[in-house]
Amino acid sequence: MSQVLAPQADVVILGAGQAGLQAALSLREEGFAGTIQMIGDEPVLPYQRPPLSKGFLLGAVTEDALVLRPQAMLDKTDIRLAAGVAATRIDRASRHVLLADGRSCGYGHLVIATGSRVRRWTGQGGELAGVATLRTLADARTLGALLEAAGDVVVIGAGFIGLEFAAVAAKRGKQVHVVEAADRVMARAVTPAISAFFRERHEIAGVQFRFGAAIEAIVGPQGRVTGVALAGGETLPADLVLVGIGGIANAEIAAEAGLAVDNGIVVDALMQTADPAVSAIGDCCNHPNPFAGGRMRLESVQNAIDQGRVVAARLAGKPQPYHAVPWFWSDQGDLKLQMAGLTTGCDAQVTIGDRDAARFSLLAFRAGQLVGVESVNRPGDNMLARRILALPAPPTYGEAEAAGFDLKALSAPPKVQA
Ligand SMILES: Cc1cc2nc3c(=O)[nH]c(=O)nc-3n(C[C@H](O)[C@H](O)[C@H](O)COP(=O)(O)OP(=O)(O)OC[C@H]3O[C@@H](n4cnc5c(N)ncnc54)[C@H](O)[C@@H]3O)c2cc1C
Repeated sequence: MSQVLAPQADVVILGAGQAGLQAALSLREEGFAGTIQMIGDEPVLPYQRPPLSKGFLLGAVTEDALVLRPQAMLDKTDIRLAAGVAATRIDRASRHVLLADGRSCGYGHLVIATGSRVRRWTGQGGELAGVATLRTLADARTLGALLEAAGDVVVIGAGFIGLEFAAVAAKRGKQVHVVEAADRVMARAVTPAISAFFRERHEIAGVQFRFGAAIEAIVGPQGRVTGVALAGGETLPADLVLVGIGGIANAEIAAEAGLAVDNGIVVDALMQTADPAVSAIGDCCNHPNPFAGGRMRLESVQNAIDQGRVVAARLAGKPQPYHAVPWFWSDQGDLKLQMAGLTTGCDAQVTIGDRDAARFSLLAFRAGQLVGVESVNRPGDNMLARRILALPAPPTYGEAEAAGFDLKALSAPPKVQA
């Protein structure tokens, strides 16, 4: 693996994941001719994470197919990558990044793209063999081997990764329980109607849920997990436990360098920190988001890619604030869930399509205005929704409820008068 490290680079990108690579590629597309140095602690080329909880564990996606760009492409575009070595400190006074192996790299501008990491189970039993998390390719390799041998699987957390993994495990013939503290699946991200639909479908596939559940301990008398004990006395059998209870921004290195951190590295709409020589993008940053009406940290491929482009454009002298419509997808069994906008806090909904046939979209409104669209197996609706939500005046609840409402007509550009 490449260990190329320049002693000094015009742009240093810390973190060689989705956002960091996008920033590097976009810099070249913008015509940036300076030196670009990426530094990543994983000993592999930058790769896409979404298939790790989907096709990779089903054997449908190979490790090679995960790679975002081959080494030859990085060489061709003169993007240097030091892989398999962590940065340990940022010295903002001398503009240097210090690495765990003792080397250092000076920067003209530093882009922090360190992503996020999984939240660990800190209760009893988290250290037992057979208790796993999923963030990296290395995690997925371990999980794949554990799944092969497992009979009883418990997933802690009914978020996207937990449910995607539950669907894979059920499809591979395992007994699957999902334990969730809230009263519905994906509670922080989707409307109750979509939660109810996905719960039904997972149950049909054989997944069993325990909602409103508190975990007493993960148990295993011989150092290997055998079950998950719930408050109330029930113990669910398990020879594999996947803990999927959310992510934490990798922002410590920025905080230690004196940069503001508040659930992520604080940046402005151009992805710049308070230090004009340092930017932050992707999962690790907390940015102002026009669709949220405030600051937020997003963990999505769309966010990582768009913020990589925003920082590159700014460094190439063409600043454009970040105002992308947030969108996200999750594949769970034969269901493709796609979300555009943010539906949290919505107070009215209109459903189009056929719920029974698992092909429908839910349009969510807040104070009469469209704020988000959740689609199940209707990718066309998601494409249209992303365009419609970017319009200065998206449709109102009244318009969507009216007979003959058509997303396609709304997304068409206005006809130019002759
Ligand atoms: C299993 C899984 C499934 C997902 N599915 C979806 C999906 O279906 N749809 C979707 O939109 N999103 C999905 N995501 C989220 C998406 O992958 C992330 O939002 C995206 O990867 C964020 O990109 P990033 O560059 O900010 O972070 P990452 O891709 O995590 O890259 C950050 C890199 O920086 C490295 N790093 C951290 N600290 C240091 C350091 N000190 N020195 C050097 N390197 C460092 C990290 O190890 C990592 O390699 C999924 C994520 C996972 C884990």
